[in-house]
Amino acid sequence: MSKVYLTGAGPGDIELMTMKAARVIKEADIIIYDRLANPEILKMAKEGVVLTYVGKQDGKHSVPQDQINEIIYQSALKYETVVRLKGGDPFVFGRGGEEALYLKQRDVTYEIIPGITSSISVPAYAGIPVTHRGITTSFRVVTGHETPNKKISQLEWQTFLNDETIIFLMGYHNIDLISTKLLELGKRKDYPCAVISQGTTSEQKVVVGTLENIAQKSKGLPTPALIVIGEVVNLKEQIEWFQI
Ligand code: SAH
Repeated sequence: MSKVYLTGAGPGDIELMTMKAARVIKEADIIIYDRLANPEILKMAKEGVVLTYVGKQDGKHSVPQDQINEIIYQSALKYETVVRLKGGDPFVFGRGGEEALYLKQRDVTYEIIPGITSSISVPAYAGIPVTHRGITTSFRVVTGHETPNKKISQLEWQTFLNDETIIFLMGYHNIDLISTKLLELGKRKDYPCAVISQGTTSEQKVVVGTLENIAQKSKGLPTPALIVIGEVVNLKEQIEWFQI
């Protein structure tokens, strides 16, 4: 009987993958992967493995999600061990839930293999703890894909006014809108922010600034990139450790 493994690849550094993920990658007959999964991981696969890329092509859009669902399903009909490999964790803005539901409805057996999400590990590699005693008691991981100017925004912007650490994924292209919106709502101009690009890899870049200047300071960074907003950003100077 075939099985699909919805697998987290971790944030970039290949050693941040779980042992379980490494095992199923070695066993896989087919690996369906996207842009954020470190391509080095694919070298661990057995000879003859089928590699199917469903991420963004240069200048083109990614394969639509319903098509990816169908590719996974068809692979399960054909192969015994199917690995769907995703960056970070499959359930953190990874659409892993949709894939699981699609398989469930078609009676395909699957396993979820959680991964280390970029939302906490990328800040960690920049020396930024997402919580810190005496500074903040919680953190939030939010999609920045939503544009604050959209008429019906799903984000409740006024709830960002406390001292919770906010981590925006998929928000770098909207950093201008995000910082402007938070300033308009009354957050301090000098509120600490960081943008981390290609975190946990040898290409990692960290730009630290304030809500007022972060959009300007972080212009032109390569993606993937995430935004951290919170007083914890100030700890970077003392805690940073990752040498490239
Ligand atoms: N499932 C993934 C997130 C998918 S959304 C996870 O758990 O990490 C994709 C977003 O994640 C990107 O737009 C970017 O904001 C962030 N991201 C992923 N890998 C990253 C990395 N190595 N460095 C910085 N940001 C990263």
